[in-house]
Amino acid sequence: MSASDGASSAERSGTSMNGTEDVDSSPVERLRLPNFHDRLSLRQQVADALRAQLVTGQMRPGISYSAPKLAQQFGVSATPVREAMLDLVSEGLVEVVRNKGFRPTTLSGAELDALAEIRAMVEIPTMALVAGGCVGEVAAAVENLRPLARQIVVAAQSLDLITYIEADTEFHLRFLALHGNPVLVKVVRDLRARSRLYGLQVLAEAGKLGQLAVEHEQMVDLALSRQVEPMRVLMTQHIAHLRSVWAGDAGVSE
Ligand SMILES: [Zn+2]
Repeated sequence: MSASDGASSAERSGTSMNGTEDVDSSPVERLRLPNFHDRLSLRQQVADALRAQLVTGQMRPGISYSAPKLAQQFGVSATPVREAMLDLVSEGLVEVVRNKGFRPTTLSGAELDALAEIRAMVEIPTMALVAGGCVGEVAAAVENLRPLARQIVVAAQSLDLITYIEADTEFHLRFLALHGNPVLVKVVRDLRARSRLYGLQVLAEAGKLGQLAVEHEQMVDLALSRQVEPMRVLMTQHIAHLRSVWAGDAGVSE
């Protein structure tokens, strides 16, 4: 109904105080709700940490994880862990196991290939566009990504896969965000969370994660010198690397 649409957009824009009787009688306005800000961010932090565990394969399909035990390790109560797990359930990353907790869902090689194909379609041209328009504020923002690119290299050297994935995710999403399309960033965030890089450990132990890691500093340099085609080539190579690391056995191929 258009009347309720109007009321809800008025609420969102903060103009409901002197609004119509429609808005004054909104049931939500009469509720005394606690502020969930801190709890929500804890839930998000736990969810992000679990996503990194899933992507790197530290949490594996076929194994059930109980919320209270995970909570103990996180040093938090079970509630935010359970809530974070339910977020991951709704994203299709884990499933509920009755009386046991949660289990990571299994993705086939074909499904992982499909995810990588979409990432290539979205990320390669978008990074090329950012490189093409890399002046002024965009260039300053790209320069600000340099410490994160360094952190990725250090994480690769110390075989810290969780930090690697978390920094890598932040780096790519912040870089892509410079194109100015938040919907695109959300799509890539979802695609990345569904990826499984089981071969990362093998790659790291073979001393080959460093090569993947230094590509991030190269992305910064290419954008700052506005080299569109080399950026396209580098991103194609970067995503192709990922395709080779999720199987675990293909990770060490030259
Ligand atoms: Zn990367």
